[in-house]
Amino acid sequence: MIPFVDLKAQYASIKDEIGPAIQGILDTCQFTLGNEVAAFEKEFATYSQAEHGIAVNTGTSALHLSLLTAGIGAGDEVITVPFTFVATVAAIYYSGAKTVFVDIDPVSFTMDPAKLEAAITPKTKAIIPVHLYGQSADMDPILAIAKKHNLVVIEDACQAHGAEYKGRRAGSMGDFGCFSFYPGKNLGAYGEGGLVTTNNAKYNHTLRMLRDWGAEKKYQHVLKGYNYRMEGIQGAVLRVKMKHLEKWTEARRAAAARYDKAFAGSKVAAPAAMSWGRHVYHIYAIRTKARQQWQDALQAQGIQTGIHYPIPVHLLPAYADLGYKVGQFPHSEQAANEVLSLPMFPELTSQQIETVANAVKALASA
Ligand SMILES: *Cc1c(COP(=O)(O)O)cnc(C)c1O
Repeated sequence: MIPFVDLKAQYASIKDEIGPAIQGILDTCQFTLGNEVAAFEKEFATYSQAEHGIAVNTGTSALHLSLLTAGIGAGDEVITVPFTFVATVAAIYYSGAKTVFVDIDPVSFTMDPAKLEAAITPKTKAIIPVHLYGQSADMDPILAIAKKHNLVVIEDACQAHGAEYKGRRAGSMGDFGCFSFYPGKNLGAYGEGGLVTTNNAKYNHTLRMLRDWGAEKKYQHVLKGYNYRMEGIQGAVLRVKMKHLEKWTEARRAAAARYDKAFAGSKVAAPAAMSWGRHVYHIYAIRTKARQQWQDALQAQGIQTGIHYPIPVHLLPAYADLGYKVGQFPHSEQAANEVLSLPMFPELTSQQIETVANAVKALASA
């Protein structure tokens, strides 16, 4: 069987480092925040070319607190894409603001900047571009439009650790960058985790308060805050894994290059790597009109695949109250119908890639 992701293979490769890191937390009893989390914040901010890193409990909390720190709430509008994981939109809902969608570009699968200005109203306060699948959105035009209309930019970089746009890292370009360390992400905790990057010292200060009950000092609650703290064990595990992240990212890129090469000249619709940056391949998604058939056939051959995501958020029952209808975001809808994610993880062997690629090519030429 070729799994879609293989967390056990990765654990086996770092077992000797993980044990002592977790033991260190047991010894110091710094179970929430603490020295390991603080050190991880610095290391991850540096890695992401940002000045500050604020560790939280999930990527969703990172998005939620970024919105609150920017002063966004009821009566405001926030623009994002419908072709994303539901958490992007849930965070906007938590803030009290209303989500306004713009469609994706059908090649990059990220926000189409050409559609952005038409969605801006006097209520618009922020834009959340999503660096989907590990590829940066087209940030220069998005940042230019945000500047022109005085809007905050929150990068949803939950799938894009180490991704680059014209040499700039994900999380360093907007006012805030939001990362997830869900176990399956490119940098995954052994539990849940998230982090906000920012270059703004005031935002840094507010984010640190909001994640820990809005306290300036213990019991001095100056803001209505949350319990969104990162656990000490996650900080310790993430510090160990940080050291391997570049190597793992290059392994993902090499795996993607092997898939690309195998699919070149075939009928398989491989994903596009835009010339503007460094794709970190959280997901390697091909497209096909016969998705269900392909997924079943691959499964029968012992090849696990995934679908990210089968329903765009504007058509999810949970967000029906936003009032969108089928047909309003055709590129998102088509992508949701056609994408099929192939096995992708750093430990994927060239043999496994060849097996998957041959099976997919056989389906495409059948
Ligand atoms: C994973 C993810 C999130 C949410 O992160 P959690 O840590 O699971 O809360 C948000 N946005 C995108 C695009 C994601 O992939």
